[in-house]
Amino acid sequence: MEIHEGAAGDCVLDFSRLSLESLSVDSVRDERRRDTRQIYLSYNRLTSLPSSVAVFCNLEFLDISNNRLSVICEDLSRLAKLKTLIAKNNRLDEFSLPKDFGSLPLEVLNFSGNRFEEIPLQCTKLLRLQSLSLGGNRLKSIPAEIENLVSLEMLYLGGNLITAIPPEVANLPYLSYLVLCDNRIQSVPPQLTRLHSLRSLSLHNNLLTYLPREILSLVHLQELSLRGNPLVVRFVKEMIYDPPSLLELAGRTIKSRNVPYSASDLPSNLLLYLNLASKCPNPKCAGVYFDSCVRQIKFVDFCGKYRLPLMHYLCSPECTSPCSSNPQSDAESEEENSVPADRLQRVLLG
Ligand SMILES: [Zn+2]
Repeated sequence: MEIHEGAAGDCVLDFSRLSLESLSVDSVRDERRRDTRQIYLSYNRLTSLPSSVAVFCNLEFLDISNNRLSVICEDLSRLAKLKTLIAKNNRLDEFSLPKDFGSLPLEVLNFSGNRFEEIPLQCTKLLRLQSLSLGGNRLKSIPAEIENLVSLEMLYLGGNLITAIPPEVANLPYLSYLVLCDNRIQSVPPQLTRLHSLRSLSLHNNLLTYLPREILSLVHLQELSLRGNPLVVRFVKEMIYDPPSLLELAGRTIKSRNVPYSASDLPSNLLLYLNLASKCPNPKCAGVYFDSCVRQIKFVDFCGKYRLPLMHYLCSPECTSPCSSNPQSDAESEEENSVPADRLQRVLLG
């Protein structure tokens, strides 16, 4: 064992790479136990985190990576000052954690390279957590409770089996780095536009065919990685369009011709209906739609270099650009959508 003195007498205990199968603290003096702030136990042969770790009552940092851990003892919850827990590359799953794990004051938690199939609910109670890594596990979904992690700045979930992004992710006010690469995600919820702090969004190697148009409003986004997704032209030809109802046609006429009406002219359900009109994004149309619309992929110029397929809703098939099935030839119609080069610095498509 190596003992290092840190600043202000703070103690670092390095037990790494000692082939340990358990942790004996008998040789550690009381004073040392009290002063220890950091413990390294990585690269050993531990199968469960020993309860003896709880004697280090002022511990702030614990690295137990690269062991054979399938259980973390209940006593871990007694480490009332633990801010960082690194437990990469073990055999942990959602049944390995202490019941009271959520009461720890953790700011950084790394469970990458384990066997989690779900994000444990205890993890969604860590209200001070700033960084959560669960990369390289077997996660199939992200729980809606993720929204409880209100301090989260970094969420790393790359290399799992996740099929969808729940809209609750958009409720994390400080989220700056969202890594969801190497999963099975088919779409991005438009609510993500509420992530005003987002700087980096990694979505490479998923099953995305388009992005929501709202992604243009992520003003702090500096890096967006999209390579390895079927973001393609094929989708444009699969246009889905149900003809509008007579009610919708009447509503469209009232709205687009500015026919005056008041609350005394119409029943309340029609007034509500008229308020639901969405404006057709085609600048040459000026029309509106209600329930019936055409889904269309438009290629939007980012930084004058990249063209991203974004989802649009248009009022009718006549509003689609005749050239839009060819991403190379509709540049002139896109000027209103292009993103200033100083905004998005890197888009990784290739
Ligand atoms: Zn239109």
